[in-house]
Amino acid sequence: MKIKRLEDSLAQRIAAGEVIERPASVVKELLENALDAGARGIAIELHEGGRKRIVIRDDGEGMDADDLRLCVEKHTTSKIAAQEDLDRIATLGFRGEALASIAAVSRLRIVSLDRGASTAYEVRVDGGRAAPPSPAARAEGTTVEVEDLFFNLPARARFLATPRTEFFHANRVIHRLALAAPGVGWSLRHDDRSVFEAPAVEGLLDRIGQLHGAQVARALIPIQADVDGIRVTGCVSSPEVKRGNRRDQLFCVNGRPVGDRGLGYVLASAYRGLLRPGSYPLAVIRIDLSARGVDVNVHPRKEEIRFAQPRRVQEVVSRALSQALSSRYVVPALGEESSSAAPRRVSAPPTGRGQAALDLDLERAMTTRQAERDREKVRVRGDRRVIGALQGTYLLVEAPDGLEVIDQHIAHERILYETLRAQLRDGQISTQRFLLPVRLELPFEVAEVLTAEREALARVGIVLDAFGGGTFLLREYPGLLAEKQTQYGFEDVVAELVEPLLHGERLEEAVFDELLARLACGAAVKAGERLPLAEQQELIDRLMALENPYTCPHGRPIIFAISRQELDRRFHRH
Ligand code: ADP
Ligand code: MG
Repeated sequence: MKIKRLEDSLAQRIAAGEVIERPASVVKELLENALDAGARGIAIELHEGGRKRIVIRDDGEGMDADDLRLCVEKHTTSKIAAQEDLDRIATLGFRGEALASIAAVSRLRIVSLDRGASTAYEVRVDGGRAAPPSPAARAEGTTVEVEDLFFNLPARARFLATPRTEFFHANRVIHRLALAAPGVGWSLRHDDRSVFEAPAVEGLLDRIGQLHGAQVARALIPIQADVDGIRVTGCVSSPEVKRGNRRDQLFCVNGRPVGDRGLGYVLASAYRGLLRPGSYPLAVIRIDLSARGVDVNVHPRKEEIRFAQPRRVQEVVSRALSQALSSRYVVPALGEESSSAAPRRVSAPPTGRGQAALDLDLERAMTTRQAERDREKVRVRGDRRVIGALQGTYLLVEAPDGLEVIDQHIAHERILYETLRAQLRDGQISTQRFLLPVRLELPFEVAEVLTAEREALARVGIVLDAFGGGTFLLREYPGLLAEKQTQYGFEDVVAELVEPLLHGERLEEAVFDELLARLACGAAVKAGERLPLAEQQELIDRLMALENPYTCPHGRPIIFAISRQELDRRFHRH
């Protein structure tokens, strides 16, 4: 006989692996419990990204001594009692296995004062071995402490990432639940530093303001629809606030943050034509429907759900989105310029701009007009003369051998990148110091990384001062890019710069090149942006002065040529 029954504690440890993947999963389960207990305030403390220690304090309904004894055992829950209850789950938890799983793979301590009781109790479980509850001191609510996660599961412990990466994941979980529950006050400390404090607020908009800054909150559009018992509410960003990834998109179904491909697709479709590919809106969308319309029991960590009628839900979300996006915003199709008669809401100043930016705008508007007047005065330095721009995107150029079509964004990006590289090689990127520092409001996970990498960023010409929370003052920026970037706003570019670092990488020499490329891309004229003829010519002259103007370092073509001969042939001119 080769089959043996697994020892209970071993079986439990194996099972725990499914629910508890990393510190972020512990955080998620504990926060869900606190919310289910009706907490109005939740304080979170993490140490070493949660690997060393996680402490969560809530002021919810609490547990008595018997509850404490039971709650750490497997399949124990106060949230459902019978089969029928599975059909109408109104709580975040219901599987009755989170605390037992955490207890099996860590050192766990829970202290709780049951609502209305006079004595608090505590229970300790060490790698699955529980001591009976004993009296302790605590005001109403519950504190859960989890230390040394996976100390008895070395195979799993080895797979944990750096504290910074673990923090990043935990932070994300917290962020999402904080958006799902604006009526609850939240605070987060990491390694004894305060990361954020978000007192209870009335609505989602205020919560987004707390987490993303007031400027972002101001650029949000509320959405709303209510059809056949499916209620959709929330807000999405207007097209000028965009993100480089989907991280700031959240769907909450009956209060539970979930991932859902179908809904993600609906959101992406609503923004088609409003945002360039690779840009994503910020969105928090709440969907409330009868508990019978959703199956929440399809994923061990409850991260996904299943709708009884996914199409209907998608339709209602889609309707809410298209109403919101079309009512207040008249948006030109991609690459097309909005006519002056249409409201110019879309090109309202991007976030993160100070007075300096506005002044620059004025100056620019004037020079632009001037340039139009001086149309004739375009000076051609080489042997290429610009004819004009096609849809503000492709420069058409008369070259000695025929017609050349040049992508203005790629060309500009290339010029900026090469110049920056040369400056870095020569020892220093020359910067422009802002008279009035530019205020940046950044998501807090980005803020963490920025603070840690300040010196490295200064080497590429970005000088920042942390101002508390997600606020930074940008004092210097590469001089070559400052003017254009002021026009576009700094937040997205700075946030995008640290993108590769969010997963624990360090800013080293090797990625400086990549950094420069991102900076150059951020400041390069955009496709669809109309340039005065003189600037078009300037761009071409500068491009031609580069060593290899024909392709960018990543192999994308910059110039597409149609020879005179080819044109002649097409028109049968032989
Ligand atoms: P579930 O949440 O699925 O019920 P858990 O293992 O997460 O399972 O928790 C077991 C039980 O412990 C819960 O049903 C709840 O009654 C109790 N509990 C857990 N955390 C708290 C808390 N912070 N405050 C009050 N009760 C709690
Ligand atoms: Mg739970």
